[in-house]
Amino acid sequence: MVVMKFGGTSVADAAAIERLMSIVRAERQAAIQPESPDWRGPIVVVSALGGATDRLLGVAAEAGAGDIEGARANTRALLARHVDVANVIANDAERAETVAFLQHEFGELERIAGALGVLREVSPRWLDAIAAVGEICSSRIVAAALTAQGLAASWVDARRVMVTGPEHTQAPPLFPETKTALAAVVDPLLAARRIPVLGGFVGATREGVTTTLGRGGSDYSAAIAGACLGASEIQIWTDVDGMLTADPRIVSGVQVVPHLSFAEASELAYFGAKVLHPATIQPAVADNIPVKILNSRRPIDARGTLITRDRPPSDQLLTAVASKKSVTVIDITSTRMLMAHGFLNHIFEVFAQFRTPVDVVTTSEVSVSLTIDDRRALPQIIEKLKEAGEVSREDDMAIVCAVGEGLQTDPTFVGQLLQAIGDVPLRMVSQAASRRNITFVIREADLPRALARVHDRFFAAVQA
Ligand code: ADP
Ligand code: ASP
Ligand code: MG
Repeated sequence: MVVMKFGGTSVADAAAIERLMSIVRAERQAAIQPESPDWRGPIVVVSALGGATDRLLGVAAEAGAGDIEGARANTRALLARHVDVANVIANDAERAETVAFLQHEFGELERIAGALGVLREVSPRWLDAIAAVGEICSSRIVAAALTAQGLAASWVDARRVMVTGPEHTQAPPLFPETKTALAAVVDPLLAARRIPVLGGFVGATREGVTTTLGRGGSDYSAAIAGACLGASEIQIWTDVDGMLTADPRIVSGVQVVPHLSFAEASELAYFGAKVLHPATIQPAVADNIPVKILNSRRPIDARGTLITRDRPPSDQLLTAVASKKSVTVIDITSTRMLMAHGFLNHIFEVFAQFRTPVDVVTTSEVSVSLTIDDRRALPQIIEKLKEAGEVSREDDMAIVCAVGEGLQTDPTFVGQLLQAIGDVPLRMVSQAASRRNITFVIREADLPRALARVHDRFFAAVQA
């Protein structure tokens, strides 16, 4: 059984949903062969309509600021967009039922935003309830549209099957509970030859309170569902041809990477390749499920990227370069660090206490530099760190992470990389124990030229 996840642009409007339906139909036809091991499914996981989550968070922000009129206007505009997209449902009764559902959901949202607008406060719990409306509604539209086209689908309310901890806006999935819930709700649908359609990104606590898995989390939902239900493949359908050699929004002349190892894909996703949510690979690794990244606009012409435990060797030294903007570097300097044990432990405890992940770390005799991208608790973190030494911060930095299994074999690589970067000032440099990546930190303003230079140096030859 295959899990097919469609991102925001792949469900952005009626035309995109038509493409989705052709892709699902082709998968269904392949699966229908009696000898196919994939005779069940597929399972479809969808994101909110492109841009809807940002807009919903805008509604929450307006409510928080007491702008009830603004929140109401945006909620109504979002409802109108969803009702318009629901025209893709080619059956009057299915469409009417879906529109009634949309009206109910957005009516509730308007009520909630109104109440929060009076209080002028939106807690993370309400933020999740508001953001979740996007996936709940998009999945409902897609399920009805598939059914109306003769592809018998069933809407699955993600809040019934994706069980998470209570950490709102970044809720961790609880695997055993999710597996049980998916088996109870989704397995019978699959056995009845129906196509379950599930909103990504959304979950609920054991008590049934709505949560979300964090921005971009629909990929993660798909991987969790795939692992829990024993999928043979997880497909991530998006708006680019696969994992590209660098971020196409920053570098021109990028190419598709045909095959990645799980480890390479994890590093790239973690260090900014937005096409994959950083946690996506994790459930796939445990059960060794192949992941594919595919272009929903070019389902036949573009072969996509295949991600598996191992990949065939390639003569490319570098596989791809990921980058992450809006990073903050924090330096802690203290002569107490000299020869002292427990110093680093103390520092990391501060970050753990404020639940802030640290990405890159470098140390010298008397100082530690590290990067974070979640600045929510930064003022408190800095206050605490001051107990350990002198603290300074630098915003508007960027991480560049060059990834490739080939780095393990070529000792000249670091030299080549540094030469390519040339006169771009390096703030931090680190090589992981896996020797699968080299990570460096530079000023965000230098990112385009640094990336272009690295990309030219290691990929231009292939292009020529
Ligand atoms: P979806 O809505 O389908 O989940 P996303 O916007 O989350 O899509 O991710 C796809 C986008 O990721 C692409 O449009 C591209 O701009 C961006 N991206 C950044 N780095 C990479 C990369 N290395 N390879 C492919 N896409 C990348
Ligand atoms: N809709 C959510 C977001 O925009 C989740 C996703 O698209 O993966 O972050
Ligand atoms: Mg995404």
